[in-house]
Amino acid sequence: MPPGGRLGGHGAHFMTEEEKAAQPKITWQLLRRVFSYLRPYWKQFILVLLCIAVSSIFNLMPSILTGKIIDDGLIGRNMKLLVVFIVASFAVTLAASLIGVLESYINTWIAQHITFDMRNHMFRHLQRMSQRFFTTNNQGDIITRMTSDIDGVETVITNTFKSILSNSITLIFALIAMFQKNWILALLGIAVIPLFVLPTRKAGKTRWTLTREAQECNDEVNGILNETLSVSGQLLVKLFGKENQEYERYENVNNKMIRLNIKEKMAGRWFFMILNTVTNIGPMLLYLVGGILMIKYDSSVTVGDITVLVALLGKTYMPVNSLLNIQVDWMRSMALFSRVFEYFDMPVEIENPDNPKTPDKITGRVEFAHVDFSYDEERQILKDVNFLLESGKSMAIVGPSGSGKSTIINLIPRLYDVKGGKVSFDGIDVREMDLELLRKNVGVVSQETYLFNGTIRDNLQYANPDATEGDMIEACKKANIYDFISAQEKGLDTMVGNRGLKLSGGEKQRISIARVLLKNPALLIFDEATSALDSISESKIQEAIDPIIKERTSILIAHRLSTILAADEIYVLKDGQIVEHGQHKELVASGGVYTELYETQFKKVDTKD
Ligand code: ATP
Repeated sequence: MPPGGRLGGHGAHFMTEEEKAAQPKITWQLLRRVFSYLRPYWKQFILVLLCIAVSSIFNLMPSILTGKIIDDGLIGRNMKLLVVFIVASFAVTLAASLIGVLESYINTWIAQHITFDMRNHMFRHLQRMSQRFFTTNNQGDIITRMTSDIDGVETVITNTFKSILSNSITLIFALIAMFQKNWILALLGIAVIPLFVLPTRKAGKTRWTLTREAQECNDEVNGILNETLSVSGQLLVKLFGKENQEYERYENVNNKMIRLNIKEKMAGRWFFMILNTVTNIGPMLLYLVGGILMIKYDSSVTVGDITVLVALLGKTYMPVNSLLNIQVDWMRSMALFSRVFEYFDMPVEIENPDNPKTPDKITGRVEFAHVDFSYDEERQILKDVNFLLESGKSMAIVGPSGSGKSTIINLIPRLYDVKGGKVSFDGIDVREMDLELLRKNVGVVSQETYLFNGTIRDNLQYANPDATEGDMIEACKKANIYDFISAQEKGLDTMVGNRGLKLSGGEKQRISIARVLLKNPALLIFDEATSALDSISESKIQEAIDPIIKERTSILIAHRLSTILAADEIYVLKDGQIVEHGQHKELVASGGVYTELYETQFKKVDTKD
């Protein structure tokens, strides 16, 4: 299904197989829903309808006046009437154009307001979607729905709806006027319509196929650009010395694209040539039959009448053609609406409870009671997890990769909800607590530190916009990053680069520790990076977190012995179950999973330093 940006722009009138398969079911419900977006703007919409009707009729007037100009003015040799009709014709054309401008303005205004409403609605909705939604759905898809699909909806309102209305009105009035003039010639006019409709459809089809091919080629070009011009992609290209290969790949697709574009433009050219030729046949036929009627049968038909009929016939070409093809546009439009509605209809998984409870005192005490959890139906990740973390204490969670350590963390700020059992925060089930309050009191320093492109100050203030310079410096000192910042020429105003990539892994992590400290949560969670940091970075981070965890409730997902030793108690996780817990010494002595981890990981990492 093409994103909305492609709607209507290419004169493409045929659906591909793929599009046919993805055709939405057009139900009353869907239509009602689409029109419900128009409801707040019904007054403006009626105005648009009026404008369209009036300007369509006005647009036909000059054709009808031509008859008068010929019969009464020229043939009747009446100078006054001639001038009057010419001026009148000019005046209605001008009026039609002016009304057209007004109509475009109101129409664009409505479309913009509807998409404004839709975008805001969508953004708010997406922000409430759970972590599961973002891990499952393709990021590109989410962005497409937010941007080009909604843009497409705008095109539907400004183009498709308008086209249906104005073409129907023009066609109906043109036909009425034709029949009024002379029914025989009017019927003849209708009979020639298929002559120009058929070739148009053929040309449209060729063009559509080419457009689609060019689109696919374009996607490919974008793909290559995305892959090779991103920070990590470019690095990969450089390190593997693939510049030439990538250039060739790019040049090839680019070349293909040029050829397709030329073909497409030329298909358009043929299309106009064919159209030009056949559209000439209709008028000639009318002149011929009109002439026969006039000359041979002495009918009342006048030269003016024939001219009017020819002019009106010309006016029906476009509407007939557009209306015949509108079904495809219409289908595509409905498909866009369905795509947008599909997201709107996704339930919000994690919602604020109706009557949220507030703990008497927020201390960061966490309890897991018989917690079961799975991301999907297939595999259970956590099985009967139980632990109690008293306020002010710290615990380390250790375990093999994939054992579910990060998953435990995800359940505390309700990024996901448990499948069984319960997680309590200061004695209250997290599902019954005010979500904002809960998340405000849980601070997470994750493995993947995310800094946005801005200054260090911007990134710190994200946690607390009211933080003073003093607060920020203090937090940075505690996070052991202040020396680095003050050594920079611009200090806190140093730019961190795209996703913080101008900084080292350790620096980023320490800035994110400072950021969490500014948030000042009751519970601090530190998901230690598994990736190797150099020992200096590591010890700096260690120096930063040691005193912090002494003064507040904290959970450490630990991969290094020094971090593990800083915690009051150690929990060992294996295959989603807590298999051991206690102090380092007794765990090492027990000869269980911890001993094995110690021997294979912690000891090695620790002695490496
Ligand atoms: P590591 O030490 O490598 O970070 P971990 O112990 O933190 O591992 P988790 O990230 O909790 O492990 O993952 C536990 C299991 O859940 C893994 O097998 C993983 O494949 C699976 N998993 C993690 N996130 C998701 C998700 N969003 N959807 C489905 N499965 C997931």
